[in-house]
Amino acid sequence: MSLLKLLLFLAHWGVARAGPGRFWHISDLHLDPDYKVSTDPLQVCPSAGSRPVYNSGPWGDYLCDSPWVLINSSIYAMKEIEPEPDFIFWTGDDTPHVPNERLGEAAVLKIVGRLTNLIREVFPDTKVYAALGNHDFHPKSQLPAGSNSIYNQIAELWRPWLNNESIARFKEGAFYSEKLLGTTGRVVVLNTNLYYTSNEQTASMADPAQQFQWLEDVLSNASRAGEKVYIIGHVPPGFFEKKGNKMWFREGFNEKYLKVVQKHHRVIAGQFFGHNHLDSFRMFYDDAGAPISVMFLTPGVTPWKTTLPGVVNGANNPGIRVFEYDRDTLSLQHCPAVAHLLLTTEEINLFKALVSLLLNNLQWLPSVPKIRWISSAWYIQVCPQAHCPHVCPLYTDYTAVNAGSQLIKQPVTSWDVLVMIEMTKKHYSLIYSTNY
Ligand SMILES: [Zn+2]
Ligand SMILES: [Zn+2]
Repeated sequence: MSLLKLLLFLAHWGVARAGPGRFWHISDLHLDPDYKVSTDPLQVCPSAGSRPVYNSGPWGDYLCDSPWVLINSSIYAMKEIEPEPDFIFWTGDDTPHVPNERLGEAAVLKIVGRLTNLIREVFPDTKVYAALGNHDFHPKSQLPAGSNSIYNQIAELWRPWLNNESIARFKEGAFYSEKLLGTTGRVVVLNTNLYYTSNEQTASMADPAQQFQWLEDVLSNASRAGEKVYIIGHVPPGFFEKKGNKMWFREGFNEKYLKVVQKHHRVIAGQFFGHNHLDSFRMFYDDAGAPISVMFLTPGVTPWKTTLPGVVNGANNPGIRVFEYDRDTLSLQHCPAVAHLLLTTEEINLFKALVSLLLNNLQWLPSVPKIRWISSAWYIQVCPQAHCPHVCPLYTDYTAVNAGSQLIKQPVTSWDVLVMIEMTKKHYSLIYSTNY
């Protein structure tokens, strides 16, 4: 790198700029390196397991994880839509849904490396804050509360994106915190795989890797320093919308997480997670029932249909998301219109909570509501493209559940009527419109 280029690079990374900025959030890329178009329905992709894949297309199939071209197209679409984001949030799950025996540590690391290299190639000058997903480990979901060879190797892989303190901390537990580049705020990258119900390594621990204690300290210090904080991670608290009684966190960890948010919500300007593979959010309330914080779950890039028993319409359309925000306050600038269909009192309350929270704290600007019918569940569609060219075209649907222990809505049951957006049409044209 020439001296001039180096100086420009440092200037780009080092200066807190005022006013609105944009950042990307991507998640759940789930590369299936062995995907191939085949007339033999059992030879298309290992990630389909024993499910036959008919009429597979070059961009993928709902029964399979992402082919390389789908991921490649998604990352280049980011470059086309917003080539100079302030930073990128990348919240994990890189490998295919196949049995552990088909992967192994080397295969997992190779896939994480391939995706890391692609993102660095397309966004060489962009800071990336990356979190591990439950699929970024071998055996899957068994992420330990202390140092190990995978944390070590991934910390080295991500060295260009991390400062020295973060590298050391990542090696101990796969979480870290840094100043949020180009802003006056801070980012916290969590390893919530430690709280995942499928993780047997941490099941009996009160505070795996002392991450909760560390998080409390970081948030207290941020409060004292007058910093706002974004929290990112992979596995979210609350229920899985498409399977009513399925919680991702063990119950004690869910309670603990809610308590931290209740205590520190004034410094938390946003929470950004993945794992669900669908566009959703979590609402957090205080003890009096007032909304205090929101967590956005970004859709996955993989269209893979979940094999969780009891889930109908388990496939998803691929998605990527760009946020617009204020660099001084970290307030999210949201879309100027919200559409919704409300059926029950509880759903109305949840929606009101979202709007009032965003209005008061996040500068959500609702205008003309647009109502669209979708099955028996409630539904929010975020603004039409014309109103919000950079943010809203990337939204598809919102479903939402309370982040707490009480399920307050039914899952959306009809995903075949999604309005597909221009970008999606262009990049993912061959893998939607089927009744999954
Ligand atoms: Zn995933
Ligand atoms: Zn996951």
